Amino acid sequence: MKSYDVAVIGSGPGGYVAAIRCAQLGMKTAIIEKYATKGGTCLNVGCIPSKALLDSSHHYEDAVKHFEEHGIDIPGEIKVNLENMMKRKDSVVEQTTKGIDFLMDKNKIDSYQGVGSFKSKTEVVITPDEGDEETIEAKHIIIATGSKPRSLPGIEIDKERIITSTEALSLKEIPKHLILIGGGVIGLELGQVYRRLGAEVTVLEYMDRIIPTMDKAMSKEMRKVMKKMGMDLKLSHEVQSVNRNDNEVVVKAKDKKGNEIEVKGDYCLVSVGRVPFTKGLNPDKAGVEVNDRGQVKVNEKLQTTAENIYAIGDVIQGAMLAHKAEEEGTFVAEVIAGQKPHIDYNLIPNVVYTWPEVASVGKTEEQLKEEGANYKVGEFPMKALGRSRASGDIAGLVKIIADKDTDEVLGVHMIGARTADLIAEAVTAMEFRASAEDIARMSHAHPTYAEAVKEAALAATDNRALHI
Ligand code: FAD
Ligand code: NAD
Repeated sequence: MKSYDVAVIGSGPGGYVAAIRCAQLGMKTAIIEKYATKGGTCLNVGCIPSKALLDSSHHYEDAVKHFEEHGIDIPGEIKVNLENMMKRKDSVVEQTTKGIDFLMDKNKIDSYQGVGSFKSKTEVVITPDEGDEETIEAKHIIIATGSKPRSLPGIEIDKERIITSTEALSLKEIPKHLILIGGGVIGLELGQVYRRLGAEVTVLEYMDRIIPTMDKAMSKEMRKVMKKMGMDLKLSHEVQSVNRNDNEVVVKAKDKKGNEIEVKGDYCLVSVGRVPFTKGLNPDKAGVEVNDRGQVKVNEKLQTTAENIYAIGDVIQGAMLAHKAEEEGTFVAEVIAGQKPHIDYNLIPNVVYTWPEVASVGKTEEQLKEEGANYKVGEFPMKALGRSRASGDIAGLVKIIADKDTDEVLGVHMIGARTADLIAEAVTAMEFRASAEDIARMSHAHPTYAEAVKEAALAATDNRALHI
């Protein structure tokens, strides 16, 4: 039997990063992945393919709607070639997942294809797609088995017309009318892709706002953008049933007053969150406990109820984000190596990759209100920036919330062009416990979208924004 210092089960952003860090720290490491390609949800059916389609559909929208105003005339009709768009997306995924194989080899990590199941606290049985089972032994094991889409009671996902994000990333035709259940991050990102490509899009959201976990100001601004795009947003609607008759899907929902509505379309994407995945893992055989939400239970060191076994990423509590899983991968490797790493979960940024992008870090205004915090707010609209006018991306704003007494930045929320990248400045500032005035006094290149961060910081400091 092959023996390792560490075996990692699952090769998503949590698992493969954990494996690399373990190898960097001198541990003999194995990684076990049930699929033939590594990279997990994120690289295969999540972050990467969704961003590829967001980018392609954005180019199409620009060509149809905005090229003319920039003085670019395209003779003839501009058409979508969905097959080619999907092929490009597949090739981006292929290149990215191959990159993980390269990284495993480079770091001398042994790769196993197959479902990993605990036999004991230190032994994992690997069942490959083809060939014989194999058992390996490891002193430490890291569970990084991720998550899968959640459905609703009574709704059967048929993967053809009633679909999850996985199928929505590989459709063979542009839906005529796509009905989205859930106005969270997947709903908005994939809804925007197909709206740009010409689908009618209806969003049925249970809460009274879209992206309900983000700061209310972001939901409000995003709602305006989505409405302008022609999306039909039905908020405060609870879905009752989804039925299919041939190529038609019929969704019934109730509003808060109990009035029932019926929406008919040709595809229904169920995007109401994801659930942890431990099928086939047999955690009980290793003494690893799972809570009633299906999450592997961990302590502050991300150690499970079996002390040599750790768990990270979507399969444990917390935000289901690739970069959260990555941080935890590094964290656990360092804990196993006897180091004392730290993760500040308050400073894990959250991004929605629509256009405009939405990005946030730290506390929302609603959270601070609930905590009874003494805070102040500075806001700056993107439309007041020269850079935004030059590109035509005038929607959005930056909102900085700071402590009223100490001026320490408590939360930064932004919607606008390239805010997915701009949020890194806010994370850095908050990691160093910057005040709003610290940001306000730093030089920001002109003309950039980043100037909105400086201006919002000026507004928060002393109502001193310069360009509004
Ligand atoms: P996963 O990536 O789910 O990887 C788990 C791996 O474990 C899988 O490959 C699985 O096959 C394997 N596995 C499971 N059980 C076993 C077993 N018993 N044996 C062997 N292997 C096993 N997050 C972001 O931060 N940014 C984004 O832009 C973003 N976009 C997304 C878009 C979509 C459409 C979706 C669905 C998700 C998106 N996410 C995004 C979320 C992100 O994909 C996840 O948070 C991230 O992949 C979690 O990483 P993980 O390593 O915990 O698990
Ligand atoms: P989500 O939690 O973002 O959104 C789910 C939405 O569905 C919520 O707004 C919720 O109120 C609504 N909902 C729940 N039950 C409902 C019902 N019965 N009827 C109508 N609406 C209902 O989940 P998601 O969009 O499915 O995404 C899953 C996970 O994947 C998220 O945790 C997210 O972090 C991750 N993800 C991240 C990114 C990114 O970082 N850009 C992109 C895609 C996915």
